Amino acid sequence: VTMIEIDHLTKRYGAFTAVDDVSFTARPGVVTGFLGPNGAGKSTAMRIMCGLTPASSGEARILGARYRDLTNPALQVGTLLDASAQHAGRTGREALTLAAIAIGAPRTRVDEMLSLVGLTPDESRRRLRNYSLGMRQRLGIAGALLGDPQVLILDEPANGLDPQGIHWMRGLLRGFADQGRTVLLSSHLLHEVEQTADEIIMIGRGRIVAQGATSELLAGQ
Ligand code: ADP
Ligand code: ADP
Repeated sequence: VTMIEIDHLTKRYGAFTAVDDVSFTARPGVVTGFLGPNGAGKSTAMRIMCGLTPASSGEARILGARYRDLTNPALQVGTLLDASAQHAGRTGREALTLAAIAIGAPRTRVDEMLSLVGLTPDESRRRLRNYSLGMRQRLGIAGALLGDPQVLILDEPANGLDPQGIHWMRGLLRGFADQGRTVLLSSHLLHEVEQTADEIIMIGRGRIVAQGATSELLAGQ
C-alpha cells in the first residue's frame, strides 16, 4: 500500500477553496516536504489526513485507509498538528505521559522520548512554560513518535527550533525514514525543506504548483 495517498482532495469554506484538487503520495523511506507560503492550505490538508476536519471532496488515505478507518490510528500515525495546544502548566514528563496514555503507548516510551529530546530527569520535571520554544517544539516532535508509528505527519515541525534543533530534527527524521518509514512535514521556508526533504510537494493557494525530487526541483533555481 502507499503510505500517504492524497487523491483529488478539495476543501471549501463557503465560497473559498482552501485545498483545491490536490493529489500526491508520500512513500516509505522518503522524507516528503510539503512547501508553501502561509495560507497555502498545508495545515488544512494535514488536518483532513488526520481526520480532524472532513474533506469537501476527494480522499486522503494513510496505509490504504481513511485515518478514522485505521485499526489503531493513534499508534499507526504520529502527528504534530498544533504544537501550541500543549498546556503550559504541565511538566515535560507529564505532557508526554498524558499523550502516551491517550494513544495507548507503553509508558517506557516516555523516558525514551525525554532522553531523545535531551532532557535530564530533573529538567523533565520543569513546566512547559519554563522551556524554550525550541524545547517545546522538540517535545511536540517526540510526542508524535511516542506510538512508534510507521507514518509521521508534522505541521511546521521546525517552528521555534534553533539551528541546533533543526539539525537534531533532520537527523531524527532521516533515521526514521531510513527505517523504511514515511515522513510528511510542512514548512513555509524553502531552505528548511530543501535541507530536510528528499521530495517536495509545492503548494500555493490550495493548488499543487510543482513536485519532485528536491535536487531536481531546485536545480534551475
Ligand atoms: P497553511 O497551513 O498553508 O498556512 P491553512 O491550511 O492554515 O494554510 O489555511 C489555508 C486557507 O484556508 C487560509 O486562507 C485560511 O485562512 C483558510 N482557512 C483555514 N481554516 C479555515 C476555517 N476553519 N474557516 C475558514 N477558512 C479557513
Ligand atoms: P464522521 O465522524 O461523521 O465520519 P468526519 O468529520 O470524519 O465525520 O467526516 C465527515 C465527512 O468527511 C464524511 O463524509 C467522511 O466520509 C469524510 N471524510 C473523513 N475522512 C476523510 C478522508 N480521509 N478523506 C476524504 N473524506 C473524508
